Amino acid sequence: MTGAQVTPLCLSPGCCSCAGPAQEPVCAAQLHLHWGSQPGLGGSEHTVDGHRFAGELHVVHYDSRFGSFKEAAKEPGGLAVLAAFLQVGSEENAPYQHILEHLGAIQEEGQETLVGGFDVAQLLPPDLGRYFRYNGSLTTPPCFQTVNWTIFNQTLRLSPQQITVLEDTLRGDGDHPLHGNFRLPQDLYGRTVLASFPGGHSARRVPLPAGPAQGNFQV
Ligand SMILES: [Zn+2]
Repeated sequence: MTGAQVTPLCLSPGCCSCAGPAQEPVCAAQLHLHWGSQPGLGGSEHTVDGHRFAGELHVVHYDSRFGSFKEAAKEPGGLAVLAAFLQVGSEENAPYQHILEHLGAIQEEGQETLVGGFDVAQLLPPDLGRYFRYNGSLTTPPCFQTVNWTIFNQTLRLSPQQITVLEDTLRGDGDHPLHGNFRLPQDLYGRTVLASFPGGHSARRVPLPAGPAQGNFQV
């Protein structure tokens, strides 16, 4: 894990599985989080019906047909990112706590720390069968248009204290708190957003079954 703007947590080499859109072997390269600046404003990069969630997890994979993440990042469909929304809940989320308790060791850019063994699957929601999918780009430079995005519909809940730790621990330029490290939604520019569940196949309006997540998915 390094103290860059998106705090990538680099995963062990060989962390590969058949998890791509076409079940091709993909290798997990890193994961990172996006968050906001203060309670209530949110920090997810994707929004649903204009609603921005408290945060968003990205687990970045590359297609094993390419020799490395660097090579795959330049090829259409070379990358696959699994994304999950974080929202405030009432209880502490133990798998996320395992990561958050290391943030204090990497407050400045360039610092690193080692996070002991953990199961990436525990950072994802239990229901992986309901998701949105589209072809898009990396949201950080160089923003290659090479990413198959999968955004899970079920959210993860972290305690208010955990969200505060996420938002307030890291430091950016000039020792200012590293806040709001998310890219604002972009126009779909004709892209089609697919949903794995009924009623979710419209490009601009992606109805969800219940709650605030209703329609107008933005990327
Ligand atoms: Zn990201």
